[in-house]
Amino acid sequence: MRKTKIIATLGPATDSAEMIRQLIDAGMNIARLNMSHASHDWVRRVTGELRAAAKERGSAIGILMDTQGPAIRTGDLPAPLDLQRGQKFVLTVRGERSAGEHSVNVNYDNFINDISVGDVVLIDNGQIHMKVLAKHANKVECEVLTPGRLGSRRHINLPGVKVSLPPLTEKDRADVQCGLEAGVDFIALSFVREASDLRELRNIFGDARVKPRVIAKIEDQSALKNINDIIAEADAIMLARGDLGIEVPYEELPIIQRKVVKACQRTGRAVIVATHMLESMIQNPHPTRAEITDVANAVYEQADAIMLSGETSVGKYPVKCVEVFDRVARRIERSGGAGYHEYAELTSPRQKLVKSAVVMADELKAEAVLVFTVRGSMARNTAWLRPRHSPIYAFCERWHIANELTLHRGVIPFTIPLDHESPEKNVELAIETLKEKGLLHKGNTAVVIASMDIGKQMADAVQMRMID
Ligand code: PEP
Repeated sequence: MRKTKIIATLGPATDSAEMIRQLIDAGMNIARLNMSHASHDWVRRVTGELRAAAKERGSAIGILMDTQGPAIRTGDLPAPLDLQRGQKFVLTVRGERSAGEHSVNVNYDNFINDISVGDVVLIDNGQIHMKVLAKHANKVECEVLTPGRLGSRRHINLPGVKVSLPPLTEKDRADVQCGLEAGVDFIALSFVREASDLRELRNIFGDARVKPRVIAKIEDQSALKNINDIIAEADAIMLARGDLGIEVPYEELPIIQRKVVKACQRTGRAVIVATHMLESMIQNPHPTRAEITDVANAVYEQADAIMLSGETSVGKYPVKCVEVFDRVARRIERSGGAGYHEYAELTSPRQKLVKSAVVMADELKAEAVLVFTVRGSMARNTAWLRPRHSPIYAFCERWHIANELTLHRGVIPFTIPLDHESPEKNVELAIETLKEKGLLHKGNTAVVIASMDIGKQMADAVQMRMID
């Protein structure tokens, strides 16, 4: 059984009912909807397809809406421009580009105030580099350092520049509203710069019946500067290595990845390693050796989830990519892990109780850890402590909790009716369910984390059960 969860981005290559089913059957745990490219009608249609496919299979599937965030972009050009090294080029704001001038508009007026002479502007995912030479009322004069072809609406990165854009644009707010109505399980906020950005996202949830879990995308230097506060505020972290790899010197990326994964496992936040993991498979049916090693590294670091972007949204071999993730993850999980969770900073008595259950499961090489959870936190705590051998079967009453648990390493969620008066009935039903599914057999050992009736009250308890 694979512990590392697989997130796949849906797009033109995979948004049909048939492809969604194929991705789920290949091992996708969470579908990502990238709002840089998706319409609200599309969100409503694919969430419907995903829920229907999950229901047919009786299994939980997570849906992650990924906001576009406050992205800075160049404007429209009548035709692409071939920029040469050493050439002077002008970036204008407020739509004040003059025809014929060697220039392009930038969609963000305060660009002129945020940028300083000597800063470097990166355009089109870091393809074109320009250095700022001078600033005027509506113009930033630059010199091209790295040449390239500039098309319309290209993404701009400003490494190390403190950008004064709001954390959520009007588009993001409308998209989040659409996500709430469609019942998505996770919302990822792009270009998070500080913890208060996440609070602003949560404010939009208001009194929505089901509030999605919040994922902070780490993709620039401000986020790294405030990483501890962001981790504390977020439900989960995504290492968005596409933008991050542009915003920081690339040789720093593996070090940042390791630091953030460690910090998440120290504090009990789920962590996703994302972007370019099988990039060559957008075109080719097989991964490169380097890609396999990158995937293996994230699995070895015991990240909760690994993510596919263009590979599944527009690639030629989306199902194969999920199969590659599945195959590499299973193999690497058998070979051991980094063990960063050993430094987990447990604070509550319930977390410490879960630790004793995981120690017991590791000692017994138990075939299962069973955890009963109303809001999901006991299951998340169990995942945090990374049981070495045992899958974590999490039993909850509500589908949306089961769907949220799809993110957490090693957790297989189930929904059953929970009897709050008689916890023993829940244990019996859970064991029966697992036996019926062929996941537990006579003679197996299970560690159970559940409430126990001790007369006048219920107590949290850890039990060892032999399956008969
Ligand atoms: C990234 O930059 O790695 C990322 C996941 O964000 P997006 O795909 O939205 O650019």
